Amino acid sequence: MNITRVFHPVGQGGFFTEKVAGFRVAYDCGSVTSLTALHDQIDMFSDEIFDVLFISHFDTDHVNGLVYFLENLTVKKVILPLIHYDERIRLAVKYHRSRTCKFMSDFCIDPAGFIKRICREAEKEIEVVFVAPYGAEPNDNDIERDLDGANHRVISSGTSVPLSNTEIPWVFVPHNFDGENRSEEALILLAEADIHIGTPQEFKELWADKETRRSIVKAFKDVKGDPNTNSLALYSGPEDEGSDHRVWDSLLIQKSKLLPISGGHFQPGCIYLGDYDCQGPLKWKQLNEGFSVYWKYVGTVQIPHHGSKHNDNESLYSDSRPFCVIASGVDNRHKHPHVDTLKNIISNHGIPLWVNENEESGCLFFIRIADSHQT
Ligand SMILES: [Zn+2]
Repeated sequence: MNITRVFHPVGQGGFFTEKVAGFRVAYDCGSVTSLTALHDQIDMFSDEIFDVLFISHFDTDHVNGLVYFLENLTVKKVILPLIHYDERIRLAVKYHRSRTCKFMSDFCIDPAGFIKRICREAEKEIEVVFVAPYGAEPNDNDIERDLDGANHRVISSGTSVPLSNTEIPWVFVPHNFDGENRSEEALILLAEADIHIGTPQEFKELWADKETRRSIVKAFKDVKGDPNTNSLALYSGPEDEGSDHRVWDSLLIQKSKLLPISGGHFQPGCIYLGDYDCQGPLKWKQLNEGFSVYWKYVGTVQIPHHGSKHNDNESLYSDSRPFCVIASGVDNRHKHPHVDTLKNIISNHGIPLWVNENEESGCLFFIRIADSHQT
């Protein structure tokens, strides 16, 4: 088989990997219900090289395995959403007392610097690339500077990530869909108290002072509502050019179902949505537009936000993309997946596949080009 795709059984979070003719990628690496399950799955790759690790967003359940992943595996490149500094400060404040994931605050304030500092000595050359928000066009030489002064490349949403050394007509296309940003309000409140945070570097200095730190935490607490974070969605599938006439052979196995669920010619592409909020016509519109040329190759969707009804949209489902993978923990406190999401999937002829921390719930897709009838 040319391509394997695995939805790993890690519980409430996400850890998904693909191997396309030797080119290996992962999307997210987190679990808040079983770090043991997550580490076991990561350990399966101890002798492997990951060409790219994509990160959807900076929530614990999607990244709390990051340190373990980078310390134990060889990773060439990390691609993550570019997040405005004020939102990163909000996240750093939110996580500053996190007992379960102590590194989150440092990671959020300086993601690229943090990644470079913790990865294995031999891989200090790891490349960190940021994806600009959807609709924002970075200049050719746009860079993001980390707190150690190193520069990192910024690419536009929708830029395809090239596979190295493979003839397979396959692409990975990330889009960073920007959420509403309400952190600005906190910075305005702080400015009124004569605390000016213009950069993450300034934040770091002000944060060191106990009194100022208290004011910063209070200002962010006073901002009402839950600011919506960015989410990097990823298409993995046939490239657009010349793929219309290709026939793919695909096989899906979920061990808990004991038998192969399906073998045949379903579309081989997948869209990973992290915790993207698809609700409402505008959010659906940008998702639909962003991947417009690729939807026809998509047979599998990673259902956003662990099957929450608040992120769901019926437009996601169609007969041509039957496989709806929901990654959530058996005993998660949010009761994901929601029954309304399952109802939406089933009433649109979709097949919900629940991947939790039980080993046999993991889903494996095997895909190859069956024939090539190019005109
Ligand atoms: Zn999540």
